[in-house]
Amino acid sequence: MRGVVLPGGSRVEHVTVPVPEPGPGQVLVGMKASSICGSDIRSIYREHVGHGAEAYRGVIAGHEPCGKVVATGDGVHLTSADRVVIYHIVGCGLCDECRHGYEIGCTQPSRAAYGWQRDGGHADFLLAEERSCLLLPDSLSFVDGALVSCGFGTAWEALLRIGVSGQDGLLVTGLGPVGLAAAMLGRALGASPVIGVDISSSRRELAMTLGLVDQALAGDAALSEIEQLTSGAGLSATLDCSGAAAARSIAIRATARWGRCAFVGEGGEVTIDVSQEMIHRQVSVHGSWVTSVPNMKLLLARLDHWGLHPEQIVTHRFSLADADAAYQTADAAVSGKVCLVWE
Ligand SMILES: [Zn+2]
Ligand SMILES: [Zn+2]
Repeated sequence: MRGVVLPGGSRVEHVTVPVPEPGPGQVLVGMKASSICGSDIRSIYREHVGHGAEAYRGVIAGHEPCGKVVATGDGVHLTSADRVVIYHIVGCGLCDECRHGYEIGCTQPSRAAYGWQRDGGHADFLLAEERSCLLLPDSLSFVDGALVSCGFGTAWEALLRIGVSGQDGLLVTGLGPVGLAAAMLGRALGASPVIGVDISSSRRELAMTLGLVDQALAGDAALSEIEQLTSGAGLSATLDCSGAAAARSIAIRATARWGRCAFVGEGGEVTIDVSQEMIHRQVSVHGSWVTSVPNMKLLLARLDHWGLHPEQIVTHRFSLADADAAYQTADAAVSGKVCLVWE
């Protein structure tokens, strides 16, 4: 079968490898959609800079896979033709994190993420553990499913963490794919208004065109504009999806008194005037990393119920053969989501 590995130096390498055979508890998934995540760019494509959970071991890339079961190993409940989303980390299954469904947080040596330490979705077939698989509702497309497997799951988890509801106004800093997901899901949870901030005019324009935000503000003036828009109160729920220090600072400072702020954008640092910006204003700041298997299942059910389609934020689709162009497009960081698709 065809596959893609990422050797670093912003290169994409095409390889041919045998089709794997599912063992006990495993399924072989025929890939239908495999999207590119910001962390693929940041930690693997440009250079292999990840450590620990983000160490790339030269495997088939792609940690946002979605497809159809084509073969099953012994003792498996899924059957051929089942459409599945892959929760992209396989933990030990026994530690506290794993037992809560947060296999992302497993620290045992056996932990492996698809596309990082075991083969991922940038190939014609993916060998998956059955317990990594969640059934994709009929109403959702394979591209919808791929987007749920990391980016939408990550946005969803952060919104749940800070309890976003119809009682909130929501600020999202960073309107890349995770930020767009947060805006879409935050609105579905009832948040209003939903305000976005990004330094890229094309990303602001995309968020407005898709109708995911009520306002899309540029970086520098964002804080004073938010003050005006909210009569100085700020927003009760804020979420940074950029990882940039300036954007994190805007998110915290735009949080209303007693409000909640969550960080999901990775990397970097931020300086906080703790007394002025947090303590005296009773602000809570949360870190949130990917999501759990149960919360990903809940998200799939909610998307089905709401009739929402994550693939709305996909701006570029490429075949596996054009993975090079796909990565270059994603690396430019001015588009919406980039997805490899089959057929
Ligand atoms: Zn990811
Ligand atoms: Zn574990």
